[in-house]
Amino acid sequence: MIIDCHCHAGKGDQMTAPWNTDAPLDAYLRRARAAGIDKTVVFAPLHGDYRRANRQVAQLVARHPTRLIGFCFVHGKRDAGRIFQMVREAVTQWHFRGIKVHGYESMPTREICEAAAAFRLPVLVDVVSRPAVIDMFAPQYPGINFIIAHLGSYTDDWKAHQQVAYQLARYPNVYADTSGVRQFDYIVEALKRGGARKLLFGSDGPWLHPGLELHKIRLLKLPPREEALILAGNAQRLLRVAGTHSQTASSSHPAPAHRFEGAAPSEFHSETVDYETEYRL
Ligand SMILES: [Zn+2]
Repeated sequence: MIIDCHCHAGKGDQMTAPWNTDAPLDAYLRRARAAGIDKTVVFAPLHGDYRRANRQVAQLVARHPTRLIGFCFVHGKRDAGRIFQMVREAVTQWHFRGIKVHGYESMPTREICEAAAAFRLPVLVDVVSRPAVIDMFAPQYPGINFIIAHLGSYTDDWKAHQQVAYQLARYPNVYADTSGVRQFDYIVEALKRGGARKLLFGSDGPWLHPGLELHKIRLLKLPPREEALILAGNAQRLLRVAGTHSQTASSSHPAPAHRFEGAAPSEFHSETVDYETEYRL
């Protein structure tokens, strides 16, 4: 089982850069299948109206229910006052499993965190090379799992990568995805600090090639058990929390479309992962 935890889907409305113009899935899905990726977390590109953008993502998820898992994109300022409703709709109607926040627009606000807590969803947040904000929100909401996109920086800010590596070790509820991280040794650093249990494979598709991003994880040459955590186990664990709640939160809506059969519980519930393992590179 391989889960890509970071991919965009649907059309943007601003058309000033690829990430707010179009995130077409056809090539992505072909490439992901060829690379052996089973499931992919998808959310909108940057957009001027996330209610519309999330609906678009829901339609794509409905078209590929066995391969795609939706996350609800919210803008902390523009959507203020309606975030709970947006998240509730996404969870109960479309079985979305998480929240996406982009620091370019807003960092996680209390309203976002409270919606995440209410539905027990992980928050995938791009902190745009400003990892200091993690020291604010992570200890304020220890019950929410935060996944830091791009190990803190899409723009190769090594200080951000370095700081996030330490934050993985410091905060039990802070994780990071590997999407778009170009400086390989900071992934190694994050592993040494946080352990394999704290990293999730992500591609930042469709703009980055999922096979190429996946190869970075293979190049870590980890013991199979630890590689399995990064490729799927950690995502399964974090997303299952969401699924469990959505099943019990409302008896009126059907069970989530996604069931994870891949890894045995012992593979990803282990507290015995040896964080001091020497990574052979
Ligand atoms: Zn992205």
